[in-house]
Formats: sequence, structure tokens, C-alpha cells
Amino acid sequence: MKGYREVLSLYLRDLLFPPRCAGCGERLVPFDPARPALCPLCRTAWEAAGRASGLSGGWEEPAAGVYLVPYRPEDPGDVPQQVIYHIKHRDDSRVFDWLAARLAEAVTRQLEAEGIPPDTVILTYPPRRRSAVRREGFDQARRLAVCLSRRLGVPCLSLIRRPAGSVRGAGREQKKLNADQRKTNAATSYVLADDASSRLSGRFVVLVDDLCTTGATLSACSALLTSAGASGVLWATVARTASRK
Ligand SMILES: [Zn+2]
Repeated sequence: MKGYREVLSLYLRDLLFPPRCAGCGERLVPFDPARPALCPLCRTAWEAAGRASGLSGGWEEPAAGVYLVPYRPEDPGDVPQQVIYHIKHRDDSRVFDWLAARLAEAVTRQLEAEGIPPDTVILTYPPRRRSAVRREGFDQARRLAVCLSRRLGVPCLSLIRRPAGSVRGAGREQKKLNADQRKTNAATSYVLADDASSRLSGRFVVLVDDLCTTGATLSACSALLTSAGASGVLWATVARTASRK
């Protein structure tokens, strides 16, 4: 049962910012306590995309992980692609929370399957480039990780950071790079936060991001976390780029 204040704040928010579908932009029914992120049509497409890709097993290589839907860059009308675009450019708490609820289910299943004790789990995320945070006003991986941590009831810690312009060319926009360039770029784009080792010792880390394309970012971050004492790392992303068949 939600508190009176919470209900009122949701009501006011829908009144001031009428909710729109993250897939097609159509108006959603306001004041819906379920706070859906997608209209019924887009939701059907989203669920069909998730089922079609046989996601239940998560990742094959190179690491254990869960994701919700495949991402098809060649198909701009694709609902998962629209959702990823939406969360990169709009700080829409309704959509982050809707995605986090779905990721929480997938992560919980995976942690249970691996026998990870819940009290050893912490969440972190690869931070967005500073220039992108300045441009967009928020970090979508962080938003997602914070919503997921609330759903799972485990702490979200900022364990990874971007070095301050010390490496030439580091932190370039990943989407402009090929797989090898991404790997090199990712390896120089992230460092551990100063207090990471003391907070990581013996902890199992869920590494949260919006999209996994080649896995370069998540691999680089996983290596940092493991080197600082994490007992294991599970990737959790909204989407994973599907290779062209
Ligand atoms: Zn829609």
C-alpha cells in the first residue's frame, strides 16, 4: 500500500508531465498505479523480442549475465532500440523503474541459480562520459542501477570512475569505434574509485548498464572489480546488441 504522499506525487507528476510510451511516443493512460513504460502494442513487441531471443540462459560468452531484450541497430523501428534511445536522452523515472523491475526478476533468478548469498551482493555501474552527462543532464546507467538496487534491496556503490582526461583519447564515444578499438578504449576509460578495494572485498557485484554491444566496457570494468577483491561479477543490462545473421 503506497502512502498518501507518494500517490499524490505520482498524480501530480502525471498531471504536469503526461506519460508517454518509451517505444512509440504515444500518450499513456495517466494515473495508472502500475506505471507502465510502454503502450500495450509496444509492450507486446517488447515481450515478443525477449521471448524470441531465448534469453532465459543469459549470456554464453564472455561472462555470466542477464539482459532483457536483443538490440537491433539496423532496425530503427524496433521497440527495444526506441527504449534504449529513450533512456539515453530522457531522465524518465517511470521508464527506469519499469526496466529495473524486470531486471530485478532476471537478476534474482540468476543469483539463486548460482547460489550467491543475497547479503554479499552489491551493485555498481560504468559511469557515463562526463561530456555526455553534461549534455544530457544525467547518467542512465547510474539511474538504472539505483532503481535496481531499490528493487533488490542491496546497496548501489560508485566503485568505478572515469579518469580525468589523463589518457589521450580515453573515453571516446563507443558507438564510433570497432570491436578492437572499443577494447583498447574501454581499458583506458575506467579506473577504480579510491575506496573500492575496502568496499569490494568478498562482495559479489552486479554490474548494471543500459546496453552491451561488444562487452568491452563490461569486461574492462569486471577486470577492475575482480582485481580489487570482488568474489564474482554478474552483468545486468537492458539490452544486448544482436549480431546480424
Ligand atoms: Zn508504444
